[in-house]
Amino acid sequence: DADLARVAELVRDVPDHPSPGILFRDITPVLADAAAFTVVTTELASLVGDADLVAGVEARGFLLAAAVAVVAGTGVVPVRKAGKLPRVAASRTYELEYGSATLELPADTIAPGARVFLVDDVLATGGTAAAAVDLLTDVGATVVGFGTLLEITALDGRERLGDTRVDALLRV
Ligand code: IMP
Repeated sequence: DADLARVAELVRDVPDHPSPGILFRDITPVLADAAAFTVVTTELASLVGDADLVAGVEARGFLLAAAVAVVAGTGVVPVRKAGKLPRVAASRTYELEYGSATLELPADTIAPGARVFLVDDVLATGGTAAAAVDLLTDVGATVVGFGTLLEITALDGRERLGDTRVDALLRV
């Protein structure tokens, strides 16, 4: 697909970020390009199906999720890092390479039985997306799928997501 090939060209490789030996894939130039952002938003929105809500993971996932929700005609809900929400419906802590991270969902926002499409910018080890799926399940939602701009395939992140449908617009 020519449009996605152009999106791929806009992903910037940043060696040794956030630590030595890590190759960081910076998707900021994709978001800053009007045509590429439209392609990405439209493609992800086509995966939303019959979901009632699009959830995005803080922080770059917010930028995608909000745009996708507008195109798909759904609401949007933030999956937040710990300590930001005034009231928390559910919380999940997961392991990172060094240390751990916690994600939270807002109280009184997602109705039990809601169908939710989850969005994030990058799928790496899958720990973040798996924690977000678990959180959404904790509050009684059904996760209809996970959509991401970029999947780093060598890290096998989709293995962590079990039965959840995973779609990546780009794979490296
Ligand atoms: P995971 O939990 O290892 O799958 O990492 C995915 C999360 O970390 C996502 O929320 C991404 O925003 C972020 N992330 C991990 N690696 C990268 C990268 O190379 N570029 C941009 N974001 C990344």
